[in-house]
This record gives sequence, C-alpha cells and structure tokens, in this order.
Amino acid sequence: MSAAEMPEDMPGNMTDGFHLVVEALKLNGVDTIFGVAGIPITDLLRLAQAEGIRYLGFRHEQSAGNAAAIAGFLTQKPGICMTVSAPGFLNGMVALANATTNCFPMIMISGSSDRAIVDLEQGDYEELDQLNAARPYAKAAYRINRPQDIGVGIARAIRAAVSGRPGGVYLDLTAEVLGSALDVATARKSLVKVVDPALPQPPAPEAIARAIELLASAQRPLAILGKGAAYAQADQEIRSFIETTGIPFLPMSMAKGLLPDDHPQSAAAARSYAIGNADVVLLAGARLNWLLSHGRPPLWSEATRFVQIDILPTEIDSNRAIAAPVVGDIKSAFATLNATIKPGQIKRQAAWMDEIGRRKQQNIERMAARLNADPSPMNFSSALRAVRNALATHPDVYIVNEGANTLDFARNIIDMSVPRHRLDSGTWGVMGIGMGYAIGAAAVTGKPVIAIEGDSAFGFSGMEIETICRYGLPVVTIIFNNNGVYRGDPAGSAYSPTGLLRDARYDKIIEAFGGAGYHVTDTPGLTKALSDALASGKPALINAVIDPTAGTESGHIQSLNPRSAVTQRT
Ligand code: ADP
Ligand code: MG
Repeated sequence: MSAAEMPEDMPGNMTDGFHLVVEALKLNGVDTIFGVAGIPITDLLRLAQAEGIRYLGFRHEQSAGNAAAIAGFLTQKPGICMTVSAPGFLNGMVALANATTNCFPMIMISGSSDRAIVDLEQGDYEELDQLNAARPYAKAAYRINRPQDIGVGIARAIRAAVSGRPGGVYLDLTAEVLGSALDVATARKSLVKVVDPALPQPPAPEAIARAIELLASAQRPLAILGKGAAYAQADQEIRSFIETTGIPFLPMSMAKGLLPDDHPQSAAAARSYAIGNADVVLLAGARLNWLLSHGRPPLWSEATRFVQIDILPTEIDSNRAIAAPVVGDIKSAFATLNATIKPGQIKRQAAWMDEIGRRKQQNIERMAARLNADPSPMNFSSALRAVRNALATHPDVYIVNEGANTLDFARNIIDMSVPRHRLDSGTWGVMGIGMGYAIGAAAVTGKPVIAIEGDSAFGFSGMEIETICRYGLPVVTIIFNNNGVYRGDPAGSAYSPTGLLRDARYDKIIEAFGGAGYHVTDTPGLTKALSDALASGKPALINAVIDPTAGTESGHIQSLNPRSAVTQRT
C-alpha cells in the first residue's frame, strides 16, 4: 500500500491500525481470511477485501476457525480467522483449541474492547479479558497494544503458528489500536516480513544411526504414519523409505492416502494383528495417544520397541519408553534415513508380510460381504459403498468426515489414494468441524469436497450451508440420517437424550439457499445423486436415509463410556 492509497480523511503522511494490519498480512503472503464481521473488525475486513485479500464470511466463528485451521493443515501457512470481541471470540475458541490439539497452524485474530474498562471490570460492550482466556488453549497468545507493534505482533503470530510443532495462535487487537493513527514513515519501518518461519530441523546423525540399527534388528517391523507426516508434505521421502525397506505401514486416519490404501504394504486391514505382533514400531508424526490406545496392552505388546520421529522433543516418552527417538522434521528425517540406510541393511521380512497379507485377505472378504449387501433402508456399509465407488473415479475429491458410526465406518470403508485428502474429527474426536473444514478445503484448493456427516454432527455447523451456497462452493454434503446421535429411537417412543427428529428432510435446508437437495433411501439412489451432484460442481446436500437401528452407541469407542457402578444399563 502506498501513501497515495491512504484514506482521504487522513493527512497524507498518516496511516492507521486498520491499514497496517492489512499491509502486514499481505506482506507475509496472506491471501485468504475466514471470519464473521462485527464491531470492531468490520472495517478491517472491508479494507482487506478492497486490498485483494479473499474474505469468506461465516455464520458462526467456530466454523470460520475450523476453515482457517484446515487451510493451515493443507498449505503449511497459518490459516487466518477474524472474530469480533467477547462472544464472537469465545465462539471461535473451540476451533483455536482444536487447531492446537491437532497441530494445525492457524491464527485467530479478535478485536477487543477498551482495556481500561475491561481491566477494571467496569462493564464494557462485549467485555472480556480475551488474551488470558485464550492462553491455555493456544500454542501462543499475544496482544498488540500500540500501532507501531502491529508488524512485530503479526510476525510473532505467524512464526509461532508454523514453527516446530504447529498450532493455534491467538492475536488480540484492541479497537483502540485499530483506530490509532501513525505516520507512514514509522509505520512502514515497523512492518516485518517473516523469513522462513519453519526451517528444516534435521535430526542428529546419531539419532538416525540408532533408529536404523533398531529397524535392522526387527523381524516384525511396522511403520505408523500420522497426520504430522501428512502435514510435512514429505510424500516422496516417506514412500521411498517404505518401499525400499519393505516395512508394512498403518496410516492414522488423516494420513490415509500418503501411500494409497490399496498399497500391498498397507497393514490397515490387519491393524490389530500388526500392532499386537510388531517387535519394532516406527512412529512418524503420530502420537501414542488414545487413538493408539496409549501404546498399552491389550492392543500392544509390552515387548515392542519404538523409533519415534517427531518435531517436538517432549513428545518422546510421553506414553511409552522410546528406544530410538528421532527429533526433527519428517521431511529431513526420512530424507536422512533414505540417504543413510545401506542397500540390504533393512531386510524384507517375508514371513511377517505373508501373515499380515493372510489376515488382510480374511478381513477384506468379511468387509466385502457387508459392503455388497443391499438392505432397505440402507445401513452404514451399504450407503458408503456408493461413496467409495464414486471416489474411485474421482480420487482428487477431498473427504471431510465426522460423526460416530459415520466416522468409524467411513474411515474403514473409504480408500484414499492421494495425500491429505481425508479431513476428519482428529485428535479430539470433535463434532462440528464438518462445514468449516469443507469450506476451508474447497476455498484453498478449488477442488470438490464431499462431507460425510452424521445427522447429529451436521447440526453443529449446518447453517454454514448458506455460506457454501453464497460462495457457490463445490461441496456435496451427505447426511447419514438415522434419526439420532449413534442411532434413532424406537418408532413411537418419546425422544431419548440421543434421539433427533424422525425423518427430518435435511435436503430442504439447502433448497432454501438455492442449492440442490436430494432425498435418497437406497444405494442406487445415493450413487445417482452423488454422481449428479459431483458432475454439477455446485453446492448439494444429500439426505441419505439410514436404518435408525443401524448404529451402535459411541461407535467404535464404546469402552470410553463410563458405566454406572450401581445402575446397570439395559
Ligand atoms: P495422528 O492423530 O495422525 O496420530 P497426531 O496429531 O497425534 O497424529 O501426531 C502428529 C505429530 O506430528 C505431533 O506429535 C507433532 O508434533 C508431529 N509433527 C507435526 N508436524 C511435524 C513435522 N513437520 N515433522 C515432524 N513431526 C511433526
Ligand atoms: Mg445419527
């Protein structure tokens, strides 16, 4: 922005906080902002848009934050979300916390009220001590108190979001700073262009040597690839390592597609067997958290030894002793492993691969029987067959997925063949990411998205269908409608805590906004609707009727439901 572009009503040599924020973001390559307008950021958003930044306005800050977070995961650049003060800020906090938990780089920038009044609790419009409220849920939290600090504040936020283990960063912008004037010469000097905020962090050679030695000693090795490995965009390095060593691999859900799910070395269809019997496990960008049963029996053997590649030193030993820690970024780590392993040093373990192959085959046959059945109404498997087949001919479609049974079944049934194309509830098992992730993915990639949503999960962000229609995004939302959380109530009974309106016509919602609604009750109907919707490239919503008795309570994680010690459930 030149001095000539400064607002008319300002002296020619002055600028203000609004202009400086936009200039600082543009200087650092920010081209998209997700947000909800209101006091005190409305003019900031208008100015950003006028200055050529793409702005996507949402109906709820949580969805805007989720869109920013997934944009960060897909691009390795922090996704930017802007919100109004107090309530808008708090609405966005779940998304910020979710980004931090999932290691997605995003920056939530919120306007805030008059600090003098907030700090004395004198009752301002939208009063809240936002900086301190954000701190426990963010990787870093900063407030800019003077216009001349805007450049440094934004630089710090960007660096904090993407360096090392990525995460959510909170940046507090007071209304006063936004409106403050500053002379152009001082303003220009105060801007910071961030230089390489996520430099490679190659691991120590001795760590690599120790890892190779342990892997070479294994008879039943297994690699587990997590979403940190997907995030790292080290697809070639990882594939080359897996294929040269012959080690079987398991993708965590958002790492599916890093190597194709139909790859001969995939152990996904023999997951429990592979985990329970591996003698050496290589964890790459995957945490030994609840999603991997904390590395504990009965799923895991006490005897298994671990190599762990992670960028965060304190992740090592978090749940199990790690024999060979490799602290560094995934791309450098795999490149160094590939360059250091001598030909034949890690031997292919034929007996182990054969046994994994046998178990895979049995499980795949068992699954095929369920997939090919045609019950009426549909169950999760028969409905997902339609999506699986559609995806086989559209491998570049992004899949967003949330729900309980809808999540569990879709993760297992839908094969991915391209990296970073499966976006789901992730580390928190959070509900409500659906429409935000779908919009974020469609916006930054320009590619079609299929959001596979449980009927309950959809409800948390459903109003964003209007956002999808407003921008004409190529998002097809499929609602697996079984009348409830987990499953529907028996016909004729009163609504239970998990019951939702019977026979709801979610397809009518999108019609209200000019999108295409489909109501389908069988697999051929779903196949046709999905094919038409994808071909149109326009917003669509498919209400897929699923047998209300088909789901199980809590899906695959029923064991996490506490049971009353005195009242046995029936
Ligand atoms: P999943 O749920 O797929 O197992 P997690 O989110 O639990 O994956 O783990 C991701 C891990 O990846 C985190 O421990 C994080 O520190 C790590 N990580 C993120 N980015 C990188 C990177 N570029 N290089 C190495 N590790 C990374
Ligand atoms: Mg349901």
